[in-house]
Amino acid sequence: MRIPIIGGNWKMNKTVKEAVDMVEDLKQRVGNIQDVEIVIFPPFTALKSVGEVVKGTNIGLGAQNMYWEEEGAYTGEISPLMILDIGCRYVILGHSERRQYFKETNEEINKKLKVALSSGITPVVCVGEKIEERRRGKAKKVVEEQIKDCFKEITLEEARRIVIAYEPVWAIGTGETATPEQAEEMHLFIRNLLKDLFGEEISQSLRIQYGGSVKPANIEELMKEKDIDGALVGGASLKADSFAEIIKKTAEISKISSSLRSKNE
Ligand code: PEP
Repeated sequence: MRIPIIGGNWKMNKTVKEAVDMVEDLKQRVGNIQDVEIVIFPPFTALKSVGEVVKGTNIGLGAQNMYWEEEGAYTGEISPLMILDIGCRYVILGHSERRQYFKETNEEINKKLKVALSSGITPVVCVGEKIEERRRGKAKKVVEEQIKDCFKEITLEEARRIVIAYEPVWAIGTGETATPEQAEEMHLFIRNLLKDLFGEEISQSLRIQYGGSVKPANIEELMKEKDIDGALVGGASLKADSFAEIIKKTAEISKISSSLRSKNE
């Protein structure tokens, strides 16, 4: 059974105080949730302070990016060792905003992925097509290329620890969400690709999050789909009330589907 994972990507938002206030509030609201893995991705500047607030709780800490070298003359970059040292156990890699504005390539994401895995950090690897690619009928081809290139030379043991976020670029921050059917179709496509790459068992155990304008009003219908294992949430993760609601609704759906499964066994 795949435990759903809900991530909150805060992007370039919040001062340290705002971040700490938000997470104190979130902790009160979701501290008792057990059926969902919860991770927040604050900006680098707030990681230390937020890390102190979430220490020993059910809320994990992640970075929004990292470089692939451990140290050296790479002005402005942050290494895997540094994010581990500050308490991060997760990292987002290849977010579409990094691909779009900072020209990150699949090859670079692959380098980061290998280092994240060898450092013991859980990577959340983002893939997804642009609107013109979907309109031209190329969505699956683009996602296939991203998965194959980003996952080059990843061993079976390493693959087990990867989380994938399918985030259609046209749905990120736009208020436009993929329909549950559109999302499920791509998630199933990704799972089948994973089966070709890593075999049946790993493909069934890897979690694939959906991302793109997820909010309390649409999380349930998305989570009801068989191959959607949680969400990477941007805008709606910035406020404790909406993010907590998404987490609670995910926990409810997950409870219902596991009790249905045990009844059928
Ligand atoms: C994201 O940042 O990964 C994201 C999905 O953003 P939003 O929820 O705001 O669309």
